[in-house]
Amino acid sequence: MATEPAASRSNPALVREAQTAMYQRAMRTLPGGTDSNFRAWGDDTIYVDRGKGGYVWDIDGNEYIDLRMGYGPVILGHGDDRVDDYVNERMRKGVSFSLTSEDEVQAMELVKELTGWVDKVRMTVSGTEATMHAMRIARAYTGRDRIVKFEGQYHGVHDYALISVAPDVMSELGDADAPVRLAWGRGIPDAVADTIIPARYNNIDALRRLFEARGEEIAAIIVEPVLGNAQGIMPKPGFHQAMRALTEEFGILLIFDEVKTGFRFAKGGAAEFFGVTPDLATYAKAMGNGYPAAAFGGREEVMSVLPDKVSHGGTYAGNRIAAAAAVKTLQIIRDTDALEVVHATGRRVQAGLREVLNPTGLPYHFTGHPSMFGIMFSEVEASEYRDWATTDHELYDAVAVGMHARGAMPEPDSREPWFFCEAHAQGDIVDRVVTIFSDSLDAALEARAHGDIGPEPSGAMSHPAAG
Ligand code: PMP
Repeated sequence: MATEPAASRSNPALVREAQTAMYQRAMRTLPGGTDSNFRAWGDDTIYVDRGKGGYVWDIDGNEYIDLRMGYGPVILGHGDDRVDDYVNERMRKGVSFSLTSEDEVQAMELVKELTGWVDKVRMTVSGTEATMHAMRIARAYTGRDRIVKFEGQYHGVHDYALISVAPDVMSELGDADAPVRLAWGRGIPDAVADTIIPARYNNIDALRRLFEARGEEIAAIIVEPVLGNAQGIMPKPGFHQAMRALTEEFGILLIFDEVKTGFRFAKGGAAEFFGVTPDLATYAKAMGNGYPAAAFGGREEVMSVLPDKVSHGGTYAGNRIAAAAAVKTLQIIRDTDALEVVHATGRRVQAGLREVLNPTGLPYHFTGHPSMFGIMFSEVEASEYRDWATTDHELYDAVAVGMHARGAMPEPDSREPWFFCEAHAQGDIVDRVVTIFSDSLDAALEARAHGDIGPEPSGAMSHPAAG
């Protein structure tokens, strides 16, 4: 391992002059100086100028290899000319009519084609809307009100999704045998929270007990196939299959929230990757390479509650920009080896990180899928959100922050995985990521030896990433 961090620094001293000024300006108008709590990093809030391929530049001109990729959507690379040129061409015909264009029909046909099991599907603008509508459809179809969701899973910012998401302190989730509904922040009515039943991921026995006790009240279980907001913790072998069988036994719908995994893990998303067919699924992120394209869809019979029995609409639903972006992005995913490139790149980075980590003797595990993985410093492989607390996330956070200073930008919160895009395969990006990680790990271990790695920020609203 390199011992002289300065040698490989591409940002010897991160300049923050323009960003400090922008932060002060933005703070006068935007709460937290930004449009999303998940990017409100106080004095360290990053103000972006541009991105291209696997790189991003802030307004001070600091260059980073981007390992956040906007929390996952940018599957091909920033400013992908194939997508941008197509969107530009289509948008000149007008973008918003509240009438339906061929672009929307074509985009949703591609979702059907790539997933292979979705019969009917509609566009939304965000993943939040997609999960909100999928949950409503499940309630309408079954005539039951309650939805089971797993601790540590993030399904967006609507009231029904913000339960037991990402506390720093695990005791807030309640007893392991009797999880409590933990609303994330104020303003979520008890009556709404009461319809959500939190459960522990990867614990099929507890789920059976829950279904046996309350199955007749439960419309659906919504699951992100991996814990995308806890470093992509994977299901135990057979977990999804067992959950599929259990939901069928109790007449409960299975919703796969594929906002992060869709068109990333495989052309057909996590359903294809794990070989499990849910009843409903939600998509966003990778389907539009960063444009605000999202969708919810599912089996014909379940989706048949639309349009007559359930409300769904939206001024921007199926807007031309998002629809055209989805058409081109999904065509590229269908017709090229883009996803194989993304997966191979993730595997190359993992191989490089192993070479750095193995000689240190530090206990670690890669979580997630090569296209979207995390590094957990722990002896035991995590299987649910509560396990994250037992990992050495202070060390991880110190490494991540160190990587920023050296020119690569993972999320500075250990819960969010690194995201890879097709453009990361270009040039020396893979080697640089490994070197930057190595240098940052050295520096973090040295800081630890001097007792310099401080505690995690406290309080549930600090800044856990859940974008
Ligand atoms: N579901 C999952 C699994 C997500 O990761 C996210 C966003 N990170 C959402 C839903 C919400 O999507 P959006 O931010 O587009 O509302």
